[in-house]
Amino acid sequence: MAIESRKQDEFFDELEIMPAEVREKYLNQRLSETVHHAYRHAPIVREIFDKAGVSPTQIRTTKDLEKLPIIRKTDLIELQRINPPYGGFITIPTEDIDRVFISPGPLYEPIQTEAIKWFTKSFWAAGFRKGDVVINTFTYHMSPAGILFHEALRDCGATAIPMGTGNTEIQIQTMYHLKVTGFVGTPTFLMTIIKRAEEMGYDFRQNFTLRRAWFTGEILTASLRKTLEDDYLIATAQAYAVTEPGGAIAYECHQKSGMHLMDEYIVEIVDPGTGKQLGPNQIGEIVVTPIHNKGWGLIRFGTGDMSSYITEPCPCGRTANRLVAIVGRTGDAIKVRGMFVVAKQAEQAVLSFEPISRFQIVVGRRGQRDEMTLKIELKDEAIDREKLADDLNNRFQNLCRVKIDKIKFVDKGSIPEEHQKIVDERTWE
Ligand SMILES: [Zn+2]
Repeated sequence: MAIESRKQDEFFDELEIMPAEVREKYLNQRLSETVHHAYRHAPIVREIFDKAGVSPTQIRTTKDLEKLPIIRKTDLIELQRINPPYGGFITIPTEDIDRVFISPGPLYEPIQTEAIKWFTKSFWAAGFRKGDVVINTFTYHMSPAGILFHEALRDCGATAIPMGTGNTEIQIQTMYHLKVTGFVGTPTFLMTIIKRAEEMGYDFRQNFTLRRAWFTGEILTASLRKTLEDDYLIATAQAYAVTEPGGAIAYECHQKSGMHLMDEYIVEIVDPGTGKQLGPNQIGEIVVTPIHNKGWGLIRFGTGDMSSYITEPCPCGRTANRLVAIVGRTGDAIKVRGMFVVAKQAEQAVLSFEPISRFQIVVGRRGQRDEMTLKIELKDEAIDREKLADDLNNRFQNLCRVKIDKIKFVDKGSIPEEHQKIVDERTWE
């Protein structure tokens, strides 16, 4: 690998390398403090607990959180509308709020200075250090997190250049003149910049010094990652961030095989229908409780994002569990034999096969069992169907964790152009 790997093994803090038992104790302790503090100071939290018949003393472990309802973005917006501006979630005097971010809704999200540290941890793991010159393409007025990224880059020692999106040619000029080494933004925007530079006659690898990129807000596909790493020698890292509960929630290390959970939150993966927690390798909704944000009593925030986590130790030495990837949104998920299948993830698995032009998954019921049929249209009829079906079955099961029962090759044009990727034909009587 030609990509330089400087100081990869430096950890940001002791939390990153806590043994499992220490972490469990630590998180439970912080959770308990957070819940008591929020119950005492945030009127809406008291209301939610009382309505659920739960007292703060009953929330001692992550598992106990199941006793409480999940609060989703729509609930937050409604609660803030009824009780403006913060919906009763603030637990500190309003003059002590450091910054307020406004999301569409409107939704007012107080963000305290400590949230910067959580991004710093993520940039640090991605290798950003003093000597780096970094363009930050998250526009401040569009993305509240942009300003946190700026400060977190500074905390890593890097020189930060606030750029925002757009003005591709100015980005290229800046990268060239200031010998920019780092990029913060979305993967597609970085690719746009590289392509434009090439159209302008530059040899990107020769003429530019870009060596590392940090992404969030968009799924980084394996193929795009490979292009950036192998063709352009840019070390890539991604992070998962959500503004409502306070920012960075999980981040990649140089192993690039899942995002380590930050110890600043309790992260649950749940069945979005019941709120019950799921185990490792099971796809469900990410639910987040910040435990280092004493100003904001948000407990069990349902992000609407679907993912799963793994518990295998990571060779980097960080000990936290890892989120595998964000595979889609709760609205696009259907439960098949107790496991969620997400349309976007299914698409990723199926359309990675070049001969397939269109597909549709039909979920039916045979006796007491869910049955999943994958209908496929081919671009090229002359291929080995049996081999394709085998490969497809394997890849689908690896990625989506559910086995396809039947693959049906259908005539070109029989799946309509505007169609649902997953159709649920089950009837429940
Ligand atoms: Zn790791």
